[in-house]
Amino acid sequence: MSIKSRTKVREALVSGELEKEITVKGWVRTRRGNKNIAFIALNDGSTLNNIQVVADVPAFPEDLLRQVTTGACISVTGTLTPSMGSGQSVEIQAKSINLYGPADPATYPLQKKGHSLEFLREIAHLRPRTNTFGAILRLRHAMSYAIHKYFNDNGFYYLHTPIITGSDAEGAGEMFRVTTLDMMNPPRTEDGKINYREDFFGKETNLTVSGQLEGEIGALALSDVYTFGPTFRAENSNTPRHLAEFWMIEPEMAFYDIHDNMDLAEDFLKYLINYALEHCNEDLRFLNDMYDKELLSRLNSVINSDFVRITYTEAIDILSSSGVKFEFPTQWGADLQSEHERYLVEKHYKKPVIITGYPKTIKAFYMKQNDDGTTVRAMDVLFPRIGEIVGGSQREENLQALENRIEELGIPREELWWYLDTRRFGTAPHAGFGLGFERMMLFITGMSNIRDVIPFPRTPNNAEF
Ligand code: ATP
Ligand code: MN
Repeated sequence: MSIKSRTKVREALVSGELEKEITVKGWVRTRRGNKNIAFIALNDGSTLNNIQVVADVPAFPEDLLRQVTTGACISVTGTLTPSMGSGQSVEIQAKSINLYGPADPATYPLQKKGHSLEFLREIAHLRPRTNTFGAILRLRHAMSYAIHKYFNDNGFYYLHTPIITGSDAEGAGEMFRVTTLDMMNPPRTEDGKINYREDFFGKETNLTVSGQLEGEIGALALSDVYTFGPTFRAENSNTPRHLAEFWMIEPEMAFYDIHDNMDLAEDFLKYLINYALEHCNEDLRFLNDMYDKELLSRLNSVINSDFVRITYTEAIDILSSSGVKFEFPTQWGADLQSEHERYLVEKHYKKPVIITGYPKTIKAFYMKQNDDGTTVRAMDVLFPRIGEIVGGSQREENLQALENRIEELGIPREELWWYLDTRRFGTAPHAGFGLGFERMMLFITGMSNIRDVIPFPRTPNNAEF
């Protein structure tokens, strides 16, 4: 479906219907020319490319053309003709131009090319009109679509897990509280604590850090499910790889063990990269040329390599005997830092690495314990430039083992009664993982700051727009 009165620039550029009259609408990128002829580069976001509009200056009201400046929104009707100029095969000979909205050249911030990414973050309401963010936003869309397509084609069902959660036992990070209580004068219990029974839900609630626990409920009924939604972490980590609000893809599969889980993660990641290369080549080539000359070769190298699979213990051995002086020491029992992950991927193996068998002390309560009593069937997928891109595990399906672990960690059991019921009634081996959508977008686009791969980033001290 497209509205008859308008042709998207993308269609116009490939249509080949020369000498036909069409109408295009969009935002002016540049205007140049002289007093006889004006060349207007018009972009409507449907593609990276602009369409060139050629206007015979004397044929138009002077007052109109004066306002056709960078950033203005116009509609142009004219004939599509072969272009004499270099850089495009067709152009539009304008018959009429209609101005929707001017953009005062004295104040419109996107005048010249080559604004810094830092500056563009301050004008996140306008940056979608740049080539860079146009490309990134189209890629975000394509990747979202590919995610749903992959799962749909493989028999998974999309499960909508809640955004507001009543359990804070997920243990994935600090949470944002959701409340309607009067902060100036909250109701109190007899012992002076805030009385959440009077809150909207009659209990403490937070924004979700992960849809996993509910995903498990889905898997233990529909076999293969996934969620793809926003997650929130109040972690005060100002890094180029953390957001306070990010999107996560979390598949959860009944009858999968940790090896099936790794196979799925590897296949899924390669599928997404392939999809981008096949469907978004133009945007990727632009990002490759502008930001990261190794982007395309890196994407191709990952789809063509078998991911290395090692245990945490092996990883520690490699790091300890590497002779490299890391900022954080490597020691069995300590969590791997980004510098360690990147050493393994970028220096040691030069391809993606999946690490399994982490110490149970640094992983969540629901992960299945190995027979050694000290490690769990966790898996982290590590990517070049990113470090951890996927975190997952086989889940503990045994009620007794799960209850013991909850007890050991002092997690309040009452909140997890429904989760424990899944192990009480018809439990089954199952596994799943979480892929951070923006970490994936960092990898796909070659951008280096996670704030530049989401339209409106939320980070400590920043919730503008
Ligand atoms: P990290 O150690 O990098 O903080 P994590 O161990 O907290 O990650 P998980 O809880 O396993 O991550 O979450 C699953 C996935 O979600 C991660 O592999 C990563 O891709 C992504 N992710 C986690 N935290 C963030 C965040 N703050 N911003 C963006 N993506 C995130
Ligand atoms: Mn984290």
